[in-house]
Amino acid sequence: MSNIKDNIVSIKKVMEEAAVRAGRNPDELLLIAVTKTRSPEEINMAIAAGITDVGENKVQEILDKYEKVDPVRWHMIGHLQTNKVKYIIDKVSLIHSVDSIRLAREIDKRAAQHNKVMDILIQVNAAEEESKFGIRTEETGQMVREILESCPNVRIRGLMSIAPFEDDPEKVRGYFKEMAELYHEYRAIEHERLDFRYLSMGMSNDFPVAIEEGANAVRIGTSIFGERNYNQ
Ligand SMILES: *Cc1c(COP(=O)(O)O)cnc(C)c1O
Repeated sequence: MSNIKDNIVSIKKVMEEAAVRAGRNPDELLLIAVTKTRSPEEINMAIAAGITDVGENKVQEILDKYEKVDPVRWHMIGHLQTNKVKYIIDKVSLIHSVDSIRLAREIDKRAAQHNKVMDILIQVNAAEEESKFGIRTEETGQMVREILESCPNVRIRGLMSIAPFEDDPEKVRGYFKEMAELYHEYRAIEHERLDFRYLSMGMSNDFPVAIEEGANAVRIGTSIFGERNYNQ
């Protein structure tokens, strides 16, 4: 477990190098430590090693760990059921996995009850994989319009995507490039509640390529904490 710190240091170095290769400023990259299945003790070690943002993919795990983890920004990165929004609306700083207008409206309603504006990302499944959540690329425009029209307490901060898994990340370079093009299209628009800042893509196996192609928020679990054991 003492590896956590070393892993974070070396991941940050790889991130920096990828940014420099792409002619980008490493300071604009956000490392989100994905803490699913990890104990509060492990998470606190990561925080002690400089992690400022953690990502969970289940509401229940956020609730179980929230009080036991040192101050940090929480990200909801997994599929979110509308009936569970109310449990995390006051706990997370960014919801990455908005994939339906119904979910956006529920987030809007709960955010209004807390007098806040919730930052979200729209999850895009550009490869249209059956096994993954997210809207299709061409649905992005309509989703953005509907949220701006009907969700005054929601602010769209960017896009999230999970690339198809490939042993060789070079094979998904084109996927990341496509996502970056979509991101820059909307980033160019000026609107109070359409304020793009995050292109969340890249995981342990593919984050250097994702950064080279334009990702500025990477979600990394295994390379920080080791392989997950779901049977614990
Ligand atoms: C688990 C998970 C990650 C991290 O994956 P690793 O391969 O462990 O780095 C990133 N994003 C999402 C949405 C996840 O569920």
